[in-house]
Amino acid sequence: MTATKTKPKPLVIPELCKGCGRCIEACPQGCFTLGSEINPESGLIPVVLDLEKCNACGLCFTACPEPFGLTPVADIPHPEDVDHEAFMMGEATIRDDHYPDEIPPQKIPMPDLPPLFIKGTYASAIGALLAGCRHFYGYPITPSTEGAELMAKVLPDLEGTFVQAVSEVATVNMMYGCGGAGLPCMTFTSSPGFSLMLEGISYMIGAEVPGVFVNIMRGGPGLGNIAPEQSDIKLVSRGLGHGNTHAISLAASSPQEMLDLTMLAFELTFKYRNPVVLLGDGYLGQISGKVTLPREMVKPGLPSWAVYGDAEHRKNLICSIALSEKELETHNYKLTDKYQRMIDNEQRAELYRCHDAEVLIIAANTPARMARGAVGQLREKGIRAGLFRPITIWPFPIGLLLPLLDQVKEIVVVEASNGQLEDEMRLALSHEHVVDLPLIDHIRHFGGVLPQLEEIVDHISKDNLFEDSEKNGNAWKKGGRS
Ligand code: SF4
Ligand code: SF4
Repeated sequence: MTATKTKPKPLVIPELCKGCGRCIEACPQGCFTLGSEINPESGLIPVVLDLEKCNACGLCFTACPEPFGLTPVADIPHPEDVDHEAFMMGEATIRDDHYPDEIPPQKIPMPDLPPLFIKGTYASAIGALLAGCRHFYGYPITPSTEGAELMAKVLPDLEGTFVQAVSEVATVNMMYGCGGAGLPCMTFTSSPGFSLMLEGISYMIGAEVPGVFVNIMRGGPGLGNIAPEQSDIKLVSRGLGHGNTHAISLAASSPQEMLDLTMLAFELTFKYRNPVVLLGDGYLGQISGKVTLPREMVKPGLPSWAVYGDAEHRKNLICSIALSEKELETHNYKLTDKYQRMIDNEQRAELYRCHDAEVLIIAANTPARMARGAVGQLREKGIRAGLFRPITIWPFPIGLLLPLLDQVKEIVVVEASNGQLEDEMRLALSHEHVVDLPLIDHIRHFGGVLPQLEEIVDHISKDNLFEDSEKNGNAWKKGGRS
């Protein structure tokens, strides 16, 4: 005689039931009814289940967002016999759809493909797809929208998810949920939109949730305009919401880098379980350039800390609230240690003709493109110029700048903002206790007016500091005339 397998029937765990009522709608037998008593542990009102008419169809399992119990009818325990505490901690086996503890990401070789000629936002979207991102949440805002449009076209064919949220606030909180499930997700936004996301970013940092924010910066303050400006360097470095918050911020200066750094952003966001911001500017988002595809793409894994709707992963529930003072302080020390690891390991910069540079131009994003051209023209005039281009805005790559300071007589910070990049540099120098500063000068523009190559060359060429310095020894080396 063969044994028949009993189909499982549901068991409601009152502490876990949200009272959402989805099971009521799903059940064809009318087994669930709305409850009337508040559960003292959850503060919610669980449904009431009567299994008399239950035919074990299983529809309620699919409908329920919570793991509320699954067991053969003959074994249904009395609710008082269920070890609810163990269940809440994920130690009780309730459902049989367990996930492996950790699935590492895989690198998959790419076929040889010809280079593309695409705009920066498209390059970033393609980089995200090649990094394994299949979940996009966003709210359109110029000049970042084309990136979202491309994701909207492509993701459905890749069985991905594209959600145009009702706002930036909704966007960042959708990312919180998706990142908490251990899935790579991203958004495209621009400065006013990014400002709206800051509270959610603080939550993501506090709860250690990954997510990639591509911010195509535009003119400010306020709504400003849609032209390029480096208006958010201050925000990404010092203002990612309230509390002890930091995130690695990468600054691209070409469509190629928009792809490469987007892929890097996904790697770093999971490496540190922390959001990562990629900064472009309005010009960079729109210009087209040659983009070579990488040799490998990524198939994402599933981290062991991911939250899923099964009992095993319930212990992973993610939250950014810690009401105990001691617990919150301990958590902040942990975050601070993580930020220090980022500072120690993730500083990046491009050094262009810096080996003998006496004049060091510091610039990022689109202004770095003009600065690079200016370096060549200044050298033709006999001025030993070099370009130091921070690729990480935070952490500022001070470790790569310090070795140049012995030879550098003047730093000129070229930026499309009110000194936000220069402030980061000065703060990094201060933290390193550098007191014998070279002279620090700057060229700044706003509102979509970008520093021009000729302007940089003229500004530095007309500077007769070098002649003065020849006469006066190192008398000019007093630091900061700005
Ligand atoms: S298994 Fe089917 S019949 Fe039973 S409670 Fe769930 S939905 Fe209703
Ligand atoms: S679907 Fe699940 S969480 Fe929602 S009321 Fe039913 S048992 Fe409770």
